[in-house]
Amino acid sequence: MSLSTKTQLDPIKMSRSLLKWYDRSNRDMPWRRNPLPWWVWVSEIMLQQTRVDSVIGYFNRFIERYPSPQSLAESSLDELMGYWAGLGYYARARNLHKAANQVVDLHGGRVPNDPEKFRALAGVGRYTCAAVQSIAFGEPMAVLDGNVIRVLSRLERIDKNPKLATVKDQFWTLADALLDHERAGDFNQAMMELGATVCTPKKPKCLLCPLMDMCRARQEIDPETLPIRVPKKKRPVIQMVAGLSTAEDDSIWLVRRPEKGLLGGLWSLPMVQGDTHDALETLNLNPQDACQTVRHGFTHQIWDISTYPCEGKPICANFDEVRAFKVSEIKTLGLGGPSLKALRVCGIDLPRRRGAG
Ligand code: SF4
Repeated sequence: MSLSTKTQLDPIKMSRSLLKWYDRSNRDMPWRRNPLPWWVWVSEIMLQQTRVDSVIGYFNRFIERYPSPQSLAESSLDELMGYWAGLGYYARARNLHKAANQVVDLHGGRVPNDPEKFRALAGVGRYTCAAVQSIAFGEPMAVLDGNVIRVLSRLERIDKNPKLATVKDQFWTLADALLDHERAGDFNQAMMELGATVCTPKKPKCLLCPLMDMCRARQEIDPETLPIRVPKKKRPVIQMVAGLSTAEDDSIWLVRRPEKGLLGGLWSLPMVQGDTHDALETLNLNPQDACQTVRHGFTHQIWDISTYPCEGKPICANFDEVRAFKVSEIKTLGLGGPSLKALRVCGIDLPRRRGAG
C-alpha cells in the first residue's frame, strides 16, 4: 500500500474487534490497575526501550518511594539514580526528575491535563504525551511505537522503511485516522498489547488475532516480512580499562561520571578507554598486572572492560566527583551496569539486576 492513500480499514469495525479482545485478555499491570496520571507517566518512561517484565519490579519500588511528582522533586538526583540503576537510558531518569520539579513549580504538583502543557515538560515527546494524555485523561491522541508500527504495517501491507522521518509521519497520520476517540487510552494500549503479544516480530499468532479478517499481510504475504527491516550496523567493540583501588578503610574509590553522555551522572569505577593498564596512570592510579575482564553491551557499542587492582586515589579531572564507598553502600548506589559487572567479576558480592544499562 502507498501510505499517501487513505486507509482501507474500517475504523469502527477494527476498534470494535480490537477492544473486545483487549477487554478479555489485557495483561495485569500495576499502572493499569490504578491509572493515576503520575503512575501512567512513570510507567511510560520506564517502558521505553525496556520490557514489561523487567519494568514491574522497578516501577513498584519507585512508586512506593515516589508516590507523587512532589516527592520526586524533593528527592536528590543521587537517590533517584539508586532506584533507576539497571534500567538503563539514564537521561530518562534525569528528565523525569527535572519534569517533576517543573510540575511542582508550574502546575501545583499535578500532572497537567493539557497536552500542550504536558508536552512542554522535560523528556516528554510526542509518544509520551499521547500515551499519558490518552490513558490517564482520555484525550483522543494516538500513539505510535514499534509495536503499533508493526501491527499497522501488516494490517495495511506497508512496505516502506518506518525509520525514515517522512514515512513515520505517515504512520502517525494512519494511527490518528484509526483511533477510537471514545476509548482512546484503551485503544492505544490494545494496539501496543496486540503488537507485544500476538503480532510479534517473529511467528505472529494470526489465528488468535482479533484483526485477522482485515489484515492484508496475513491474506497476501508472509507477515513476518513486515515491517521492512534495514540491517543494523555492527556495534563497535571498545577496549576499556578500569581501576579497583581501595582507601585505608577498605572502601572502594568510585567516580561520578559527567551529567552529559553515556551513563551520565552515575557512579562508576575509574575507567578510561585504552588497550593496556598504562591508561590508568592518567587517572593517577598505579595498576598491578593481573586483571579480570568482562563485556558490557550498550545498544550502539560494546565495552570490553579489563579491571586492574590499583593503588592510589583517582584524580577528578574527567569526572564530577571522587569518593570512596563501602561495599554495603555500593549495593544501594546508582552504579552503572559496566562497573557493576566489573566489580562482580573481581569477586565483590553485589546484587544482580534485570534490564538494560
Ligand atoms: S493477522 Fe497476523 S499479521 Fe495481521 S495483525 Fe494479526 S497477528 Fe499481525
